[in-house]
Amino acid sequence: MKFNTKTIHGGQIKEKGYGAVMPPIYQTSTYSQTKPGEHQGYEYSRTHNPTRTALENSLASIENGNFGLAFSSGLSAIDAILKLFEPGDEIISTNDLYGGSYRLFDKVFKKFGLKFIFSDLQNTEKIKDLISDRTKMIWVETPTNPMMNLIDINSISRLCKKNEILLAVDNTFATPYLQKPLDLGADIVMHSATKYLAGHSDVILGALIVKDDILAEQLYFLQNSSGAICGPMDSFLTLRGIKTLHVRMERHCFNAEKIIEFLSNHKKIDKLYWPGISTHPNYELAKTQMSGFGGMISFTTKNGDFKSVQEITSKLKVFTLAESLGGVESLANHPASMTHASIPKDLREKTGVVDSLIRLSVGIEDHEDLINDLNQAIN
Ligand SMILES: *Cc1c(COP(=O)(O)O)cnc(C)c1O
Repeated sequence: MKFNTKTIHGGQIKEKGYGAVMPPIYQTSTYSQTKPGEHQGYEYSRTHNPTRTALENSLASIENGNFGLAFSSGLSAIDAILKLFEPGDEIISTNDLYGGSYRLFDKVFKKFGLKFIFSDLQNTEKIKDLISDRTKMIWVETPTNPMMNLIDINSISRLCKKNEILLAVDNTFATPYLQKPLDLGADIVMHSATKYLAGHSDVILGALIVKDDILAEQLYFLQNSSGAICGPMDSFLTLRGIKTLHVRMERHCFNAEKIIEFLSNHKKIDKLYWPGISTHPNYELAKTQMSGFGGMISFTTKNGDFKSVQEITSKLKVFTLAESLGGVESLANHPASMTHASIPKDLREKTGVVDSLIRLSVGIEDHEDLINDLNQAIN
């Protein structure tokens, strides 16, 4: 099956009861058993639920994995990964990453003895110096949020294999429509399915996808033991979202390209960050690692300060000023005060998240309306 067919049919089985085309929302906590110890495949919904199974099979299919696990949020999915490790273990992470992931690493798991090394992972050679015999995982987000840098998954995966280190990739920004980390050698793919996969800004949900059965078993154990599962309704909504992922992504990419064309010719715009710009430092990697450049754009305005950013973002009418991304509607975000406020200012500015930076999640509206809206706000 090719990708577009997989988003609709991947991992799905025919419903036997009434031939329902969509899996029913099995809003049940428990399942009747015929005899003690004998059940019909499901016992208790923390462990399994048929609607969640349908979603988990779909997730595995679209990421070219063998196992999918769905969680109550992207962060609870990351939380499960971190519980694979023991005090003293080291994790190397991108320094330009989602603020909530940084907070979970630095404020929660650090106190349980995990050591995190935050670094710019764009140069694979430099990563070699960061690896010690306690290094257990490399955490990669690519494109990075909000600076849109790219990290070479395939070259890091070779380094990881040589050193017996797990490679986990947060694929939230690219989605499997644009990038398939497992095919590039990653061990774990993580998603905030809240964003593009569900795609309609109506659900919080996280996902992990792996190929290896032992790793899958360890993660299922943690998912069931800690219990941060998603409910049947949210599973259903995410599964429904995935069915149009390819059509939405095509339009997200198209609209982003149109907006880049407009912004790059606008005299008030200073820096533009999008992997599809030929002057982007990782443009060549973007062309091979991704099949398109995505719907996320960041930019700064000339002489931009916090006040001018406030003025621009408050004048937007079609774009909504809000956290999150990946929905059908266009959003604008001010990383320094919103999504990345949990990262200390000096660390934040080192990676480029300055006060004048604005991040756009380009939706699937008519691009003319989006451009007109940006134009009036910036002028
Ligand atoms: C939103 C987001 C997360 C966290 O996911 P939640 O579903 O909000 O818990 C992690 N990584 C990235 C890149 C995100 O955008």
